[in-house]
Amino acid sequence: MTTPIPATLIPGDGIGPEIVDATLAALDALKAPFEWDRQIAGLGGVQQAGDPLPAATLDSIRRTRLALKGPLETPSGGGYRSSNVRLREEFQLYANLRPARTIIPGGRFDKIDLMVVRENLEGLYIGHEHYVRIDGDPHAVGMATGINTRQGCRRLLEYAFETAIATGRKKVTLVHKANIMKVLTGLFLETGLQMYEEKYKGKFELDTIIVDACAMKLVLNPWQFDMLVTTNLFGDILSDLVAGLVGGLGMAPGANIGADAAIFEAVHGSAPDIAGKGIANPVALLLAAAMMLDHCKLHDRATRLREAIDATLNIDRVRTGDLGGTASTAAFTQALVSRIANA
Ligand code: NAD
Repeated sequence: MTTPIPATLIPGDGIGPEIVDATLAALDALKAPFEWDRQIAGLGGVQQAGDPLPAATLDSIRRTRLALKGPLETPSGGGYRSSNVRLREEFQLYANLRPARTIIPGGRFDKIDLMVVRENLEGLYIGHEHYVRIDGDPHAVGMATGINTRQGCRRLLEYAFETAIATGRKKVTLVHKANIMKVLTGLFLETGLQMYEEKYKGKFELDTIIVDACAMKLVLNPWQFDMLVTTNLFGDILSDLVAGLVGGLGMAPGANIGADAAIFEAVHGSAPDIAGKGIANPVALLLAAAMMLDHCKLHDRATRLREAIDATLNIDRVRTGDLGGTASTAAFTQALVSRIANA
């Protein structure tokens, strides 16, 4: 018998509960040994407990050090600060791993197998912002502070380089904007180049590219890249672009990794435009659950889950609307669970 693994489950907002239900059905079919502690956050936290990140949710993750999370809504402009960003800070989840792999062949971009590694705690994304009042206008100027530290760059780059070696990546590309943001992203670039010379030379090829050129080249010829390593905001944007190469946000999983905790989620948000309609694609969260199984060294179950997703999409041809199909979330889940059960 496999030892039970305590884990926190946050169904999240919008389509979150729908895709979490689908993922739990697949994990149950795989007899994954997670012992779930259900918690709330985001808009659900505000509505049910008056707090977008209740203490009970934090306590649960402090205990389990492992979580599967549906998307959490963050208001644009005013309102509360992102619970996702706060969770990353609280548990020092410094690396965000976002793999993109073509599962449905024959699309505009075929045979994509790319890994984006995004720094998760620093940079311009940290949201330390303020207004400056001038001549009675309290919002005359908007300012944001970006912070990168050598220590923060080092730990992210070390994680990325070690992951590249462990997963057999041949080429790592550092993505930066050091021509303009010479201090903020120059520090990241310089640290990466130095670490490569000191410890990693010859273990994989290292390349560098400016972020705007990278965006263009990803669209023209994504196959020239293998692993992209970058700072927080650039990683946020480029990983959505890369998700678009493999069928959209419904196909893109993410893992937030720290020294002693990890949170797995889909790259996409709560999709309020389709919430409650039963049509959300659960594949991104299912692939995140596969990453979670790998993280817990349950590689056999992770492989079975990925193979069942492939077969459901390509052999059974059961697909949700975002992938050009007509299946509901429930119909896709049923087909997937049958695949797992009959494999
Ligand atoms: P979104 O990712 O929620 O939606 C963008 C588009 O993609 C929408 O048209 C949506 O219908 C579609 N989409 C997303 N996931 C899908 C799926 N699984 N199946 C089918 N279609 C899907 O982005 P948004 O609208 O910019 O953000 C909505 C909310 O989500 C915001 O409050 C934002 O802050 C939050 N958000 C949360 C996370 C997270 O929790 N990790 C990530 C991104 C955005």
